[in-house]
Amino acid sequence: MSHVLPLSGKTALVTGASRGIGRAVAVALASAGATVYCTSTKAGGCDETLAAIAALPAGSGAGRALVVDVADPASVEAMAKHVLAEAGKVELLVNNAGVTRDGLFLRMSAEDFDAVVGTNLRGVFLVCKAFARTLAKAKDARIVNVGSVVGLTGNAGQANYAASKAGLIGLTKSLAQEFAGRGLTANVVAPGFIATDMTAALSPEIRDGMLKTIPLQRFGAPEDIAKTVLFLCSDGAAYITGQTLVVDGGMTM
Ligand code: NAP
Repeated sequence: MSHVLPLSGKTALVTGASRGIGRAVAVALASAGATVYCTSTKAGGCDETLAAIAALPAGSGAGRALVVDVADPASVEAMAKHVLAEAGKVELLVNNAGVTRDGLFLRMSAEDFDAVVGTNLRGVFLVCKAFARTLAKAKDARIVNVGSVVGLTGNAGQANYAASKAGLIGLTKSLAQEFAGRGLTANVVAPGFIATDMTAALSPEIRDGMLKTIPLQRFGAPEDIAKTVLFLCSDGAAYITGQTLVVDGGMTM
């Protein structure tokens, strides 16, 4: 006997779904039945994600690949036009694409600041804008923005990144207020230290030091974040909006 998956019939878009957290989110949403548009900045960048989605049990949602640079308004516009022409709607928007350009404040250039804010904050603004109308039209659409605990705590060496992720919380709360009347919820998931390419770049000393600060005594997996995003996209989270949900093994409690 077949049963209907919770997100069957929904269309989702996940930015930065080529690897790491974004890939895990895309697979989780597809496993719950959604058709998932997966983005990378490179053609073929989401091939492995699409393969993982194709390997899900029969009845799961399908994956589709898109190329977009969220920092570029024309690229975002073209991507949204393509998705809306093909799918006709998007109900679940997960803004996950993000970059770091770490450095101590005295050495941080304005270019490093703009590059990080341009992708992590302005990029989310552009993508939300491109899909705002279709999201507002749906009865129970969801925006989930992937922030960081650093947006709440700040971090030495990450002034640009912390500012972008703190700004994301303000953007999300404002969207939550403006669109609440349309049944749209908007929330932030704030990961702590998750084992991905982004954190693999850190030195073993920094990684060991971080591990000591995590009460649950392990780094997070992309799937830890994906499960939280899936929850926020589910019916069980229908009454949650404007919130920042910290998923960090207790690191910043
Ligand atoms: P990752 O492995 O470095 O992957 C980053 C993703 O973002 C890639 O898919 C990349 O696409 C995409 N991307 C980068 N710049 C882009 C742009 N201009 N336009 C569109 N897509 C772009 O990162 P991750 O660790 O999974 O992190 C995902 C999110 O979680 C980020 O927002 C990050 O800030 C946040 N986060 C991560 C951690 C952690 O510990 N890992 C902790 C807190 C928050 P390409 O395929 O083109 O490279």
